[in-house]
This record gives sequence, structure tokens and C-alpha cells, in this order.
Amino acid sequence: MLSPVLLLLSFFSIAQLKSPEDFLGYKIGSRYTPHWKIVSYFQYVAQTAAATVKLQQYGETNEHRPLYLAFISSPENTSNLESIRVNNLRLANIAKDKMMPSETAPVIVWLSYNVHGNETSSSEAAMLTLFALVDPKNVQTKEWLKNTVVIIDPCINPDGRDRYVNWFNSVVGSSYDPSTDAREHREPWPGGRTNHYNFDLNRDWAWQTQVESRQRMIQYNQWMPQVHVDYHEQGINSPYYFAPAAQPFHEAVTQWQRDFQVTIGKNHAKYFDKNGWLYFTKEIFDLFYPSYGDTYPIYNGAIGMTYEQGGGPAGGLGAETGEGDTLTLYDRAIHHYTTSLSTIEVSSLNAAALIKEFRKFFNNAVSGMIGEYKTYVIKNNPADAERISSLLKLLDKNAIEYGTGSGNGKGFNYSTGKEDAFTIATGDIIVNAAQPKATMVKVLFEPQSKLVDSITYDITSWALPYVYGLTAYASKQSINTGAGILHDTVRNVSTDAYGYVIRWQGTSSARAVVQLLKQGVKLRFSERPFEINGQSFARGSVIIIKKGNEKFSNTLWQMVSKACNESNIRMNAITTGMVDKGYDLGSAKVHPMKVMKVALLTGEGVGSNAAGEVWYFFEKELGYPVTLINANDFSRVKWNDIDVMILPDGNYRFLSDKTSSDQFTQWIRNGGHVVALESAVAQLSKQDWSVVHLRKDDEKDTIGKKDPYLLLKSFENREKDEIPATTPGSVFKVDIDNSHPLMYGYPNYYYTLKMDNTIYDFIKEDGWNAGVIKKDNQVSGFVGFKLKKKLKDGLVFGVQDMGRGSVTYLSDNVLFRNFWENGKLMFCNAVFMVGQ
Ligand SMILES: [Zn+2]
Repeated sequence: MLSPVLLLLSFFSIAQLKSPEDFLGYKIGSRYTPHWKIVSYFQYVAQTAAATVKLQQYGETNEHRPLYLAFISSPENTSNLESIRVNNLRLANIAKDKMMPSETAPVIVWLSYNVHGNETSSSEAAMLTLFALVDPKNVQTKEWLKNTVVIIDPCINPDGRDRYVNWFNSVVGSSYDPSTDAREHREPWPGGRTNHYNFDLNRDWAWQTQVESRQRMIQYNQWMPQVHVDYHEQGINSPYYFAPAAQPFHEAVTQWQRDFQVTIGKNHAKYFDKNGWLYFTKEIFDLFYPSYGDTYPIYNGAIGMTYEQGGGPAGGLGAETGEGDTLTLYDRAIHHYTTSLSTIEVSSLNAAALIKEFRKFFNNAVSGMIGEYKTYVIKNNPADAERISSLLKLLDKNAIEYGTGSGNGKGFNYSTGKEDAFTIATGDIIVNAAQPKATMVKVLFEPQSKLVDSITYDITSWALPYVYGLTAYASKQSINTGAGILHDTVRNVSTDAYGYVIRWQGTSSARAVVQLLKQGVKLRFSERPFEINGQSFARGSVIIIKKGNEKFSNTLWQMVSKACNESNIRMNAITTGMVDKGYDLGSAKVHPMKVMKVALLTGEGVGSNAAGEVWYFFEKELGYPVTLINANDFSRVKWNDIDVMILPDGNYRFLSDKTSSDQFTQWIRNGGHVVALESAVAQLSKQDWSVVHLRKDDEKDTIGKKDPYLLLKSFENREKDEIPATTPGSVFKVDIDNSHPLMYGYPNYYYTLKMDNTIYDFIKEDGWNAGVIKKDNQVSGFVGFKLKKKLKDGLVFGVQDMGRGSVTYLSDNVLFRNFWENGKLMFCNAVFMVGQ
């Protein structure tokens, strides 16, 4: 209880509460507000209006900018925030205390601004929204806050925002130039959309590969809002977009969630109509892929929505639209501010219904009413240990429950695509669908998500057993989960031995191995399986013996055990170099492993997300140095300093320059190794030296011949007519030659995420068909019917030997958004094993 004097003082200071304009010294929209100033304003308001605003720092970005959440509600709610939070988790059946919740609870509305850094107007709007909620003169918002807790994340992606804002401020004149030809409307590579590592944070909600998402989702799962809005911007000529969303909806989206999106949309329309603003609904922005800022909240029981203002990266402070109007940052911010308040208003007016339906969502979840499959069983194959461990981390991040089990059952076998019998063994993982996160379980595990034949914004398959390359069953029987899985921590104790062997099975073993390489430890790997001391080792197993490592004398084994312990993998002692089966360790079939100096082409012309995926993988997952070289500097490369050059998805002009491309091929012939991904493969395939050739599209020639009327298309169906020849990201089973170094550590198949219709002819000579699609091998996701016929009997992954060097062709993205876990080892093989 505050003393009367203090109370009076605090009332006085609130009455003086500065608007963003008063605080910043300029009107919102007239300048860009850098992130630190947005933070300053939030800190100022939290200090001045402490009774109604709590500010919490929840993390830090790669570039060390702070991440904040502001909690705004009535003084009464604000002083009870923690009990509101706990009660809300009880409503969701997530609270560990299992106590009955109160259903007369405030509704929680979470507003996330500026996830795409160069969609800048929303963080400006966040300051206006905060002020409107706290401004003592605004009686209306005080009414709403009686039954509403508003959570504001003023900027999800500060590094991206400041990259844009700092650049814009450096190129704009004393007043802005509305001509869209002006340089201030042409953002340079890589743009501010993504985070530091060029990751799109609005694709990362479920996977949480990035530090911003990981830290935010810890908070999200502790709060579980009833309403969530993700603020964006789109092309400058598009009117404002708000809910209801577009088809396809995932079938897991409930009728209430669909209906309430309409309620919210109508409330927004009221304000937009009053101001004469244009808007659209029900188009483009679908609800399917689970890792967006609208779908993820939906699959977690909230009304999740995307709002899109026109303007986007090209808008600057003001820009001329196609209709000849000037759209300003102020306009854009005001629109987002309007939908912010309208969302809070409509949520407050419907608070009781939102809470009731939220409760129902989670009661249905725990009673096993969600989805046709009741249990998912993941077999604990020893060779899958690293990928299983990664999967469990993903389930933990999403608060999905799992455990062990026993007994027999029947279910959809992800490998065979058929209904098969299974026996649950010790260590197998059981995920029962009856749990609070039942909808997430369904969406992430179901073998085939239902999708009407429609255009979608993103990939259509992400079933986890394919992503992680695991043996698994989806069963319609409910199998109870028993004891929890123990995450065992490997503690290797090194004793003196002839040597040690590290199994090559995933990112963790690769990380341990490259840490040792980096420190100058001499390593070898076997191209054949072998058995020693009763232990069997697969191809690619890495061997460390004392020979060649004399300089480390008695610290060698400590270095090995440290590297293995840090990666949580086992080092296996051997007492002899003479094998029981296979080739002895002194054989020529056991190769020394070279320290690879790796370069990555990046910059203008290269796909920024693709380059970012490789950059991030080396820095954050492997901990191995990589030199980033701008593709435009190709002619200045010091070739002697590079062993491996990585060409991510991109457009490589040097290939059409005779001098540069001659240097390139000369370097390969002298022992250089190229790893080409996605479209880089297509470009290399056009070089006269390449043994890989793009499959010719024969569909176009035959389509009119069979039925001439097929050529007649209706104008209004123009978007749909594209569908038969597209694959918006679906899963194919690839047959692989796992005797080739590119495929060490894999069984004889791999599930690939196919993003386009590209496929190559089998290599006829001077190369290896390491991964091919044979007949009818699509296992999940949506593929247009024309494409289905085409995507067979072709090459996806191949290697060309060239002089003393090699070119590895990875035509599908094996590092997709860094969550396609099973592709990462193939990438490591391409860099560290191929051509050794
Ligand atoms: Zn966006």
C-alpha cells in the first residue's frame, strides 16, 4: 500500500505521462525510431506507470540487443500477474499443480510487432498502442484492461529492424523521396527482413532454431495467450489485410477459431470503413504450416492472426503507390495501431467466451479427442540416437509430453506407408495424443496433413519422423506413456587405449570430430564397416590413434573425451589396430581426414536465407570456421587458401565469365571440392564439364496433343491452373548408395524435402548417383498431379570426380530452415568426407 503522498505523486506523474511524440521529440512516422529508443520509451512508461505496466527483458539477440515484453492491465490485474498466469496454465491443463482453474479470468492478448525487421511500421505502432493503453485521459482502454491483460513485444527482431533503419537513415535526404526508383526504396542485400543469420523468424515458431525464437517461446509457453497477433507489411500497393485468413486451413483449426476471426475482422472493418481505408480478408494468408506467428498460436489454443499493412521494405518514410497516392510511414503505423486497439477491444468484449473456448480446446486435448491417431511410437534404434535426442529437444521446446511404454500394437509405418504391427521395446518413445498439446502433436506428427487442392504459402509436409529420419508408427490405439525418458548424459572417461572410435551418426558426432580436427588432432575414417573387440562400426566411423598425435602426448585422450562429452556422444576404446572383420586400421581403406578450409559464397546474387543456413550451421552447430566471401569478389579469391567452396542457392554470374570459370575448374582439378545446393546445381549442370543434366520437362509438348481443350483455360482460374505443376514442399523417399562417402551414417534411404520440380538424369559416367528417386516415392505432402509423373527415376544427390577434386550436387536443401535434422549429416559428409 502506497502512502497518500506517494499515491498523489504517482498520479501526478501519470497525468504527465508523455506520448511517444513528447518523449521522442518528433511525431511517429516522421522519422524512424531505432530499437534502443523504442526500448527507452517502454522503460520510461513502465517506470512512470508502474501500477499498470510491467516490463520484462526476456533475452538478447545475436547482436546483443535486448528483447522485452510489456504486460499492461488494470492496477488490480497488474498486481496479480503471477496468479493470472498460473490460473491461465490451469485453464490449459498445463499447470503442474493440477488445481481447478477459475474461469472468470482476464483474457490474455499478445501483440507481436516487427518480426520481419524491414516491415517497420508496426514497432512505431507499438509505442502508440502502449501509450493509448496507459494514457490517463483514455477512459475507454481502462475499461478494456479490467478484464484483459495485454502483452506487447515491441520488436521480435531488433537486429533486422536496426539493419533496415540504420541503412535507411544513411541514404535518405533531408526529406524523403516518394519516387520508388529512389535508392531509399531499394534495400541492399541481405535486407532487414531476417535476423543476424538471415533466418526468417516467422518460419521458426515451432522449430525455434534461432536465439530470438527460443527465448520468446519460453515466455509464450508460460503465458499461452487467448489471442495473438503477428504484425507484418506487404507490397506497397496492397491494401491492409486482416483476419479471417485464407484457405487452406489445417483441419485442426477449430470452428470457434474460424468464427472468432470473423468477429475480429468485422470489428476492424468498422474502423477502416469509418476512415475510408481499403482492406481485404480471406485471401493469400493461409493457416497451414505450423511455424508462423498465426498458426503456432492457433495450434496452441489461441486466435492466431497475421495483419499485413502495405508498404513493406520499399515504403521508407513515404512512397508513391501505383494509384499515385503517397503512402507514409505515419499512415502505415496508424493502421497497425487501429487494429491493435480494435483487437484489444473485441477481445475484452468477448473475454468470457474466449476463456470458455480456450478451456474447451484444452479439455478436448487431454481427453484424446484430437486427431485420428492416438499414439505415436518412435523406435529407439541405436544408430538414431543423436537424431532422437534432437527430436526430444524439439518436443521439450514445445512442451509436448512423451514417455516410455510397453506392449504390442498396430499402426501406420512411416517407412513402408502401410499398417504394420510393432512391439514396443525398452527406450522406445511414446507420444500419447491425449495431452494439452494434442493439436501440436497432431500437426507435427501426422503422416499426411489434409489439404484441399489449393495454393499455399509454404511447404505442405513436416511430419517429424521424416524430418528426423526415424522409424516410427502412428497408431489409432491409445498406449499409455509410462516413466519419462531419461536424457542420459554421456560421460566418457578416457583410459589409455590403442585408440578410440567415434561413430559418425549425426550433427553431434560431426561436431565432436570437427572440434578435434580444428585442434590439429590427426583423425582417420574407414570407408568400410569393421569389427574390433566385439564392437561393430559402420562406414565413416572416425578413428583416433596415437600415431600422428605424438605432440599431444598424454593430453590426447583428454581432448577426445572433452570433445565427445560436450557433444554428448560416446568414444569407444579399442585395444588393437587389427580388426576381426573388415580392414585393419593401417589399410588404405582407412583414410586420413584432412582439416578442410571452408569458404561460403554469399552476398549479392546469393539466396540470403540459403547462405544464412550454411553460415549458421558452421558457426552455431558445428563450431567450425567458415570464410564468407562475396560472390562478386570471386575473381579476387586466394584459391590456395580454400579446400571446400560452398555455393548455396543463388545466381552465380562468375560461371558465365570465361576467366573466372576457368580459374574455378582449374582449382577443382587441382584438388578443390565444391558443394553446390539447389539452384547452384542447375547452373553448374549447364557447364560443359558437368556430368549432371537437368531433366527436360516433356509435359508441355504432350499436353495439347492428348486433349486440345486442355489448352483452354479460364482467366479466373489462373492461380489454380499453376497447381498441377507445383510442389509446395513435400517429402520424397530417396534411395541412396550408402557406400559412397556422401551418404556415410545413413541407411539405404533418406527422406528429402522437395521444394520444386527439379530433377536430374542419372549420371552416366565419371560420377556417382548417390541419391535417386525411383518410382512412386512421394511419401507426404502435396504434389500437383503433373509433377507426380515427372518426379521419378532421377537424381537428387550426386558427386562428380574431377581431377583431384570433386563437385557434390545437393539439388534439395538438406539444411532447410535448419530444422530438417536428417539432412545435416549429409552436408557434413559433403564438406568433410567426400573426395578425401
Ligand atoms: Zn512479414
